[in-house]
Amino acid sequence: MPQTQERTTTEAVGSTAACAAESSTVHTETGILIVGASQAGVQLAISLRGTGFEESITLLGEEDHRPYQRPALSKEFLQGKVDKENLIFRSAEYWDDHNITLVKNSRVERIEKNSDGSGVAHATDGHQYPFRRVALAVGARARPLEVPGAGLSGVSYLRSADDALDLKGRLDEFTDVVVIGGGFIGLEVACSLHGMGKTTTVLEHGPRLIGRAVGEPTSEYFLNAHRDRGVNIILNSRVESLVDAGNGKVSGVKLEDGTIVPAQLVIVGIGVIPNTGLAEQMGLETDNGIVVDRYALASDGSTIAVGDVANMPNPLPGAPEGERIRLESVNNAIEHAKVAAYSVSGRREEYAGIPWFWSNQADMKLQIAGLSMGFDSTVVRRVEEKGKFTVLYYREGQIIAADCVNAPLDFMAVRAALAKNQQIPAEAAADPDVMLKTLAVDREDTR
Ligand code: NAP
Repeated sequence: MPQTQERTTTEAVGSTAACAAESSTVHTETGILIVGASQAGVQLAISLRGTGFEESITLLGEEDHRPYQRPALSKEFLQGKVDKENLIFRSAEYWDDHNITLVKNSRVERIEKNSDGSGVAHATDGHQYPFRRVALAVGARARPLEVPGAGLSGVSYLRSADDALDLKGRLDEFTDVVVIGGGFIGLEVACSLHGMGKTTTVLEHGPRLIGRAVGEPTSEYFLNAHRDRGVNIILNSRVESLVDAGNGKVSGVKLEDGTIVPAQLVIVGIGVIPNTGLAEQMGLETDNGIVVDRYALASDGSTIAVGDVANMPNPLPGAPEGERIRLESVNNAIEHAKVAAYSVSGRREEYAGIPWFWSNQADMKLQIAGLSMGFDSTVVRRVEEKGKFTVLYYREGQIIAADCVNAPLDFMAVRAALAKNQQIPAEAAADPDVMLKTLAVDREDTR
């Protein structure tokens, strides 16, 4: 049902909630309210229009920026290669042309929902957003570091554009930086800052780098590669406290073994926590995220939850029955939002494609196809002189994932094989001179 949107309050693109104080705080009912102008929220709005959804759409975000892409924040943006405008998803005209109302700078604190899926969202600024359907694309927040001194000036996180803008403005104020956390954020930021001439140390509390996303051979590869390039990395490091220079600014990081690593800047990248608060308030089932079915529907059968915040059935072909996952990636946000858009439009389409991830670290481009959890054997392909490195993961003889460094053809071959439910026999794959795509065969043929 097409709806004519009345832009009486905060709804004009580019406006902020504060501008609308003179208008009613109860907005016109929207066809769907998408809470969270994240990658998943933006994609959901775009895909809804793509599926022919004709009702009004309101996309509401709490940051005071038009929706933007996050991946470059720790890399090209910090390095000064792109500016904020380059990160903006769509022009103001796009949202207008597609009857999508963008609300910035507004935080929903409570949602009242009726049994038919309609309801009202209440924002902290007093505005109310009635809806016929609601979607939660509320993502995740940076996990806080909880040690003495964590609140000192000079301790930063890198999750939002504001975090990155703040950091960029202070680049001249320090020479020594400590990055706490050897995951994606930590290593990408470390590379960016090391590339700017900063003395950079990464403290990882686990025994290896990027331990949640890649297997041991890949962790080892990145450990050696970063050390070779001049980044200091300390594994199994326990941060005891952050040291006060005496003026409320950080001057170093004290480890439990008594070592003090000097730093005028400390960046914390120790993972994220899914934002389940609204879902809990609504009485939805949560468990490391908002529990959803294959169609992005939460436990009430009508609320949509998409992207980083959604805990969903593992979409990989051949995944063990009942296995659930929560994926933190751009690709997942996009694919999951497409599933959700179909779901809103009444179609039952399952997740298409294979989860994949990427991370650019200095001159190394890591691409991950599939999910390696539960693997029982690996094959490593390496061409040293070309800087190529691939790890293939197998479960019960079947390929399930690959980590590929500077090896885009390997990545594409594995991704395609997984999408077609094909096999890449391990023995033949061990020869790095053989193109993986020539080895892919239908699974039945290997039995
Ligand atoms: P992450 O990838 O989960 O890595 C965090 C790392 O910090 C883990 O190795 C973790 O170890 C470690 N850690 C946790 N507590 C620590 C402590 N107190 N001291 C030292 N190390 C500690 O998370 P992230 O790097 O913060 O990234 C945040 C989010 O952004 C993730 O969703 C990530 O996927 C996303 N992101 C993605 C990309 C990309 O795909 N290219 C790039 C940037 C960010 P344990 O696992 O043992 O806790």
